[in-house]
Amino acid sequence: MHTTSRIAILGGGPVGMVTALLLARRGIATTLYDARPVDDLRRDRRLLALSRGSLQILDALLGAGALPVAPIRRVHVSSRGHAGAARLGDLVGTPAGNAVRNPEIGAKPVGATVWYADLVAALARAIDADPRIAAERPRRVLGVQQHPECIRVTLDDGAEVACALAIDAEGGPNRHRREGDAVPVRSHALLADLTLEGLAPGDAFERFTHEGPFALLPIPGSPQQMSMIWCLPSTLAHTRQQAPEDRLLRDIAQTLGPRFRAPTAVGPRSVFPLRPTRVDRVCEHRLVHIGNSAQVLHPVAGQGFNLGLRDCVCLVDCLTDTPAGTDIRRTRDVPAAVARYGTTRRLDRAVVPALTGMLPELFSSAPLPIAMARSAALGALDLLPDVRRAFARLLMFGVRV
Ligand SMILES: Cc1cc2nc3c(=O)[nH]c(=O)nc-3n(C[C@H](O)[C@H](O)[C@H](O)COP(=O)(O)OP(=O)(O)OC[C@H]3O[C@@H](n4cnc5c(N)ncnc54)[C@H](O)[C@@H]3O)c2cc1C
Repeated sequence: MHTTSRIAILGGGPVGMVTALLLARRGIATTLYDARPVDDLRRDRRLLALSRGSLQILDALLGAGALPVAPIRRVHVSSRGHAGAARLGDLVGTPAGNAVRNPEIGAKPVGATVWYADLVAALARAIDADPRIAAERPRRVLGVQQHPECIRVTLDDGAEVACALAIDAEGGPNRHRREGDAVPVRSHALLADLTLEGLAPGDAFERFTHEGPFALLPIPGSPQQMSMIWCLPSTLAHTRQQAPEDRLLRDIAQTLGPRFRAPTAVGPRSVFPLRPTRVDRVCEHRLVHIGNSAQVLHPVAGQGFNLGLRDCVCLVDCLTDTPAGTDIRRTRDVPAAVARYGTTRRLDRAVVPALTGMLPELFSSAPLPIAMARSAALGALDLLPDVRRAFARLLMFGVRV
């Protein structure tokens, strides 16, 4: 058995890598284990919408401009077959019908998109350049064992590593989790790039339908295309993945409705299973769950990674802003710091998953009172500056305590 005083990060996806880099910036060394090589992660076809808060975190870590992004300036939210629509973004209408700069948002974009693959590549480069991080890939974690003075991590070659703290960033449900195992998959996200004409740069669309939410996001470096993420019941998602292109284009045009320009081509398609889950306890003595290991969100509002990034920042703050005279590298301080993290993250982790979990249900319900309520809610979002400001802040920065 090999013993180390390092902190172990289990899982080197974006959340695990950001945590390693944030800790390194504060002088704390880590060892990061991932079951897959970086090239495997780079085959992922997800486009992530990053909030303004997330962009600030990543810019500080990687340097401004290090990531190829497409800015999001306006988000158009509508519901198929119902009145009411809302627009969140940098411009607002005046009673005279002009568009003026929205003071709630300012001149900066509300967010931006980045390919998961590009994000992973940039983070992996930064990790390679940092001597305080030892990245071991491919190396699968098989389990952990808690002890009063350390946590033992078992690896797939039989090695055991004793650490002060293990940070679980392995993504979806796994063996470290007690709650949330065997979550049934009822829906899938169908992803594809669409070619559309006459696109306004910086526009993003979220359209709710009875089948499920449909989103279009701007693609970095590709102004004639948008990335579609269509959350559908699993069978329908697979049917549409295999459907002839003209058939799929017709279905998309119908979903978008006559006010949208119909797409002219669909790129390669992929599907992702959707399993929203959330663990109740994010910390257990010397084990802490962050990112998708702590909660998997419905991708409807593009908030999963944004919430995960706030987990990373909060955890690193709790591990490093220790009371005077304590040093987190002394193993006995770890459980207290980790418990502080659990308490601090409670509200953001409750509100954002609840909101994103509720939206698809609310917008797929047909009864008239619910339809009227959601039209009213969209109208309120569009017309009431205070409601709009609160909602925009929630999406850009999460819930702050
Ligand atoms: C279709 C789709 C669209 C999305 N869009 C958005 C969006 O627009 N905005 C947004 O904020 N979020 C979005 N998300 C959510 C976002 O992708 C996740 O929140 C984010 O990827 C979580 O990062 P993570 O590092 O926690 O987990 P992951 O990205 O899943 O990485 C986990 C890592 O752990 C490794 N691992 C797993 N098991 C082991 C093991 N036993 N040992 C060692 N390593 C292991 C894996 O190889 C992987 O590298 C979307 C998700 C989906 C599915």
